[in-house]
Amino acid sequence: MVNSISVLGSTGSVGTQALAVAETLGIRVKAISGNRNITLLEQQARKFKPEFVCVTDESSARQLRLALADTDIKVGSGMDALTDCAVSYAECVVTAVSGSVGLLPTLAAIDAGRRIALANKETLVCGGELVMARAHEKGAEILPVDSEHSAIFQCLEAQGSSRSLRRLLLTGSGGPFRGKARSELEDVTPEQAVAHPNWSMGAKISVDSATMMNKGLEFIEAMHLFGVSPDEIKVLIHPQSIVHSMVEFIDGSVIAQLGVADMRLPIQHALCYPERRDGGIPAPDFAGLGELSFSEPDFDKVPCLALAMDCARRGGTAAAVMSAANEAAVALFLAKKLSFNGIYDIVAQAVEALSSDGTPSLSELQNADKSARSFVNERYPRKI
Ligand code: NDP
Ligand code: MG
Repeated sequence: MVNSISVLGSTGSVGTQALAVAETLGIRVKAISGNRNITLLEQQARKFKPEFVCVTDESSARQLRLALADTDIKVGSGMDALTDCAVSYAECVVTAVSGSVGLLPTLAAIDAGRRIALANKETLVCGGELVMARAHEKGAEILPVDSEHSAIFQCLEAQGSSRSLRRLLLTGSGGPFRGKARSELEDVTPEQAVAHPNWSMGAKISVDSATMMNKGLEFIEAMHLFGVSPDEIKVLIHPQSIVHSMVEFIDGSVIAQLGVADMRLPIQHALCYPERRDGGIPAPDFAGLGELSFSEPDFDKVPCLALAMDCARRGGTAAAVMSAANEAAVALFLAKKLSFNGIYDIVAQAVEALSSDGTPSLSELQNADKSARSFVNERYPRKI
């Protein structure tokens, strides 16, 4: 188990649960970061007494500096401070920010030899090749926090090697609109989209779960984390969210990881690995559950998943463009400026207009990310 952590995005859904896990297990919290929610950051700072608090937003940082003036906690702001938060204080960094803003601090944490408990999937979707190549070069430990990837990691660990794997079986609940046709989703509101049946999460990932872009992002995340091709990943709809994913081996045998739908479990696994600890999380009650069911996704109903799988095959900057365009489109949807179905439409247009082939450098990925956001913000269809 690690002795100390820093948490990027400590005010979010994963971030607050990471702090809860640290408290339960007695892991020291050395640095935390947020963006705008300084009320919660101040409470967290007073409770966990970290050495450093980063607030990305400069004016929020000024307010927090005043609020914490009676303590000796340092407050920093901007991207340099976020990177500092990731590398300078703790043995392990939990990357729980939302969006591709996590890319640079993750690369810096790899260089600094920190264990990375990675929740921030957009980082791998945007720069997966770069991040994994750097991690292999430096021998960095990236422990997945995304529940499906934590499951796959545990299944591969159980086998002791990934050499005999045939494919990964990536499960997803199907979100709140499972089985619904696109025509039925025209008038979906943000409130309806963020109401996930099984998981309580931040707004962006909840919308991604509703469009199933989340499963698409996870498809690309799995490809990079486990070094497999798109043909070696199969998505399965599993509404109960008990089987968090599975690995099929060449002899036809399948190993699955099961657990209740509670993000503290994969967070705890990433912090305790290779040990296991009792963090007070119950095992599933199988008799009470009744049935576990599985089906194939209907790609006509979930075009975002099909688009992400297509971007995975295209390579180049396609996934970076898609993910950044999706971030911008989801923000517009949450602000009630874009319709639910409009998310797919504008993201697909951005991918068509902006994707390029080859092996992009960091600056090419950053440019692709920026162009995709501008494309969406300039061209999205205005709601009348
Ligand atoms: P939330 O929206 O709940 O939290 C996001 C966190 O990131 C907050 O602390 C927020 O700060 C901070 N943040 C947002 N924008 C910026 C920015 N531009 N610069 C710096 N910090 C920023 O997200 P979740 O916790 O739901 O998700 C976090 C990541 O984990 C995502 O990548 C998601 O896909 C992944 N994930 C989440 C799961 C879940 O159950 N929630 C499950 C699996 C993966 P503030 O609140 O102060 O504005
Ligand atoms: Mg997940």
